[in-house]
Amino acid sequence: MARRATRTVRVGDIAIGSGAPVSVQSMTKTHTADVDETLAQICELAELGCQITRCAVPNRAAVQSLRDIVAGSPLPVVADIHFDHRLALAALEAGAQGVRINPGNMKDRVGLRAFYRAASQRAGVKVRIGVNSGSIRGRKGLEVCEHEGDLAELMVSETLEYCRDAEEQGLHNIVISLKGSDVPSTIAAYRLAAGRCDYPFHLGITAAGPPAASIIKSAIGIGTLLAEGIGDTIRVSMTGSPHEEVRAGLAILEALELRQQRGVEIISCPTCARCEIDLCELVEEVERRLDGLPLKARVAVMGCVVNGPGEAAEADVAVAGGREFGYLFLDGRKLRKVPAAELADAVVAEVRRLQPREDRA
Ligand code: SF4
Repeated sequence: MARRATRTVRVGDIAIGSGAPVSVQSMTKTHTADVDETLAQICELAELGCQITRCAVPNRAAVQSLRDIVAGSPLPVVADIHFDHRLALAALEAGAQGVRINPGNMKDRVGLRAFYRAASQRAGVKVRIGVNSGSIRGRKGLEVCEHEGDLAELMVSETLEYCRDAEEQGLHNIVISLKGSDVPSTIAAYRLAAGRCDYPFHLGITAAGPPAASIIKSAIGIGTLLAEGIGDTIRVSMTGSPHEEVRAGLAILEALELRQQRGVEIISCPTCARCEIDLCELVEEVERRLDGLPLKARVAVMGCVVNGPGEAAEADVAVAGGREFGYLFLDGRKLRKVPAAELADAVVAEVRRLQPREDRA
């Protein structure tokens, strides 16, 4: 699919923009002041395929730890900062390869401009100007005021105004994010901004909820935009582990074929009254035993011969269930009949035999 043309922005050694593949990022959920715990989590995320990590920097203790985190991190580190430009300046000093701010909540405008100038002097440092619909509306104390007009238009115009301010200070390495309170308003804001600027976009659905809800909202919101060529780096946010955020992000990119499948892809049917084997148990076991196998392969596990042979034709290894047995397929060709109790072993053995053929699609 054609990507929206953007400038290219660097965060450490990762490029963000239409000239680079869409990247996946996540945010650590440890206390940033705890260097060991935070680095351990970053390493786990990197292992899963995460490319950029973000750490909340709410106070001095966190910013003091940032230098060691950046030094030990296998991923570029973005400092997430609110309210205080001095923390943003300190994050630059600590070597952070990116800083995420919401200019709307920075109290000191002169200090904010000093931060823009300092960031503009550092190669490989990007600044994400991230706004959300809640933060651009007026507030009375802790209460957000109602807004009458078009919220997407307000978000986009405010964000571009912030960007103009940053550009006037010489900062061009800018990525923007525009998060509405729900999926439709988020999509509307990004679509609107897409025609008005060439900044790369960080996509995400804010406060998306617990894992199941987040995965649905993110797949729809992020997926819709990516399918239109909009979006350059993504973060699935969820009330849950960052590992799941990364897995979900990668799955979205793989589903849209924006990233090559890592590991074994399992295709399976929903089962119905025609199924005469325990397909759920079989799929679970095959998935568990093939998890982490460094091999690109597609495995179809189907309940019966209605759709089994069709999926087998598209898969490297496949099984189509019968009455207490299954037909085993390799590259669409029927190999043999296998008793139901031996199906998992047979599928796993055939997949393992594929290993030398690393160039499979
Ligand atoms: S493949 Fe067979 S068992 Fe599975 S859903 Fe289709 S008809 Fe039902």
